[in-house]
Amino acid sequence: MHLHVADHPLVSHKLTLLRDENTPSPTFRQLTEELVTLLTYEATRGIKTEPVEVVTPVAPMTGIRLAEPRPMVVPILRAGLGMLEGIIKLLPTAEVGFLGLQRDEETFEAVTYANRLPEDLSGRQCYVVDPMLATGGTLIASIQYLLERGANDVTCICLLAAPEGLSAVEQAVGDEANVTVVVAGVDERLNEKGYIVPGLGDAGDRLFGVV
Ligand code: URA
Repeated sequence: MHLHVADHPLVSHKLTLLRDENTPSPTFRQLTEELVTLLTYEATRGIKTEPVEVVTPVAPMTGIRLAEPRPMVVPILRAGLGMLEGIIKLLPTAEVGFLGLQRDEETFEAVTYANRLPEDLSGRQCYVVDPMLATGGTLIASIQYLLERGANDVTCICLLAAPEGLSAVEQAVGDEANVTVVVAGVDERLNEKGYIVPGLGDAGDRLFGVV
């Protein structure tokens, strides 16, 4: 697994505003979108391209364009939905598939409750968006799901990660899988309820309100 921590003052600035308990939902959603766009820029360094001929007003040249098959963006329901606009802004031609996974609050195991993805992902580059990499259970289940269906590589974009979750993902995917995690920050630890400390609280609730 490759880990990329986006070490940029704009990222840290927006992340700090997100962490603030006084930041209201509309601002939280806007900041999440902006942060995800910045993270997507970092996360797509390895996106597949192909050469294309183009004629400028001055001369013909060979440029590049994104290769087929189109990248697949996979928001993990529910909180990942808050990250969709931010990534689609930079990847407007991507396809979007949905995966509904939630944590069992007692065992912390990931349970699938919704799936809207093609069965065959052969050769696809997949971008999973889920704000909080806490225990890693949800992300591990998502990565395995995509790789089992033939995904070429999986890049996970998260706002925050806990060291425990990163180790769990690394252990689960091993060296073989082509998996990258891009985060805005890595925090201290998880607390006894599985929340990232200091974190930003429950990302889904802060984006969409308590259900
Ligand atoms: N999920 C969240 O929304 N926040 C955490 O801190 C951990 C998991």
